[in-house]
Amino acid sequence: MSTEINLDKLYDDSVKILTDLIGFRTISGEDNSALINYCEDYLHKIGATSFKTYDEEKKRVNLFATIKAKKTNGTKPIILSGHTDTVPVSKSWSTDPFKATIKGDKLYGRGSCDMKGFIACTLAFAPIYAETNLNRDIHFSFTFDEETACLGAPILIEELKKRNIKDGICIIGEPTKMKIIDAHKGCYEYTTYFEGLAGHSSAPHKGVSAVEFATRYANKLIELREDLKKRAPKDSIFDPPFSTLQVGGIFGGIAHNVIADKCHINWETRPVIKEDGIFLNEQIDKYANEVLLPEMKKVFENSKITKKIIGEVTGFDRVKKSEACELVSSLTGDNSREVVSFGTEAGLFQEIGISTVVCGPGSIEQAHKVDEFIELNELKKCINFLNGIKSKSISN
Ligand SMILES: [Zn+2]
Repeated sequence: MSTEINLDKLYDDSVKILTDLIGFRTISGEDNSALINYCEDYLHKIGATSFKTYDEEKKRVNLFATIKAKKTNGTKPIILSGHTDTVPVSKSWSTDPFKATIKGDKLYGRGSCDMKGFIACTLAFAPIYAETNLNRDIHFSFTFDEETACLGAPILIEELKKRNIKDGICIIGEPTKMKIIDAHKGCYEYTTYFEGLAGHSSAPHKGVSAVEFATRYANKLIELREDLKKRAPKDSIFDPPFSTLQVGGIFGGIAHNVIADKCHINWETRPVIKEDGIFLNEQIDKYANEVLLPEMKKVFENSKITKKIIGEVTGFDRVKKSEACELVSSLTGDNSREVVSFGTEAGLFQEIGISTVVCGPGSIEQAHKVDEFIELNELKKCINFLNGIKSKSISN
């Protein structure tokens, strides 16, 4: 039994679904449950099973759905993965950012390329997988809050570990114009808070200036940045080849003549290898706890230094032999491998042993911008790609 697949119809479906998805306002940090329910209902109707995981307030949701193999023969499952959140919008859009608008060969709307376009294609194709004699499970992984600091995915990954879904191939459909991305740096963001003792500026020895201690902390970070340069791996594939560090802001103090009791520093590092992140944290924590804090406490026992992790987006490492990359190459005919400067959820899947690749429709050039769009042809390319996955997933 073989039925011809009407790819044009699937493409039309993907446009319709994308239009629906853009209509859900799912800016990072906001409730995305309406969109998730839409996807879950859709997938349930075609026979998929699913589970959801949540943030602490149960406001934001990850969905993981599965179309089961008809006959398993040990072929690794495929995870089609996308984040459901988008970056915020500004007032300067020429169309309503939450209403999909087609002009010429482009579809405009927030999230059109980053990355509801990919999600729409996978949903449009899902009914075909459901009626195929699959030799492997096809999973759909839709997460929340990727854009802020990959906050949703780790919660989902924990659940995958519990359910023993640790082996497989993951395709992260971030906009790459269907090119293969197989590595990116990590991105770790922190805020460090300093609490000292306020006082009159004429008697600095009686207070603990949070601003001054924060400044010394910032200087130490800048010093450590030089050490990171020296630690650059010889075969680094990144530009620059070493882990970077940046102090993004120092906030503290109320007046010229008042000793500041509070100050905080925003800083981030982009490690090329995990060990650099560990090294940096160890060094700066040691400096804070063994040098700065004892000095602060000498004057004021309740002084505090607290480092808060805003997000630690795991780096995505290039591996010599990647099943995920090979699968994509065999379908697109493209053997190139590129690195990117943006972070994704790829490292999180890779970390639990899932072979992962970043490859999806649309261009990162349009992501996060005013008048974000996806070229309609990219959706077609993605539908063809998903059809290729089907051809690699049929049991004989
Ligand atoms: Zn994205």
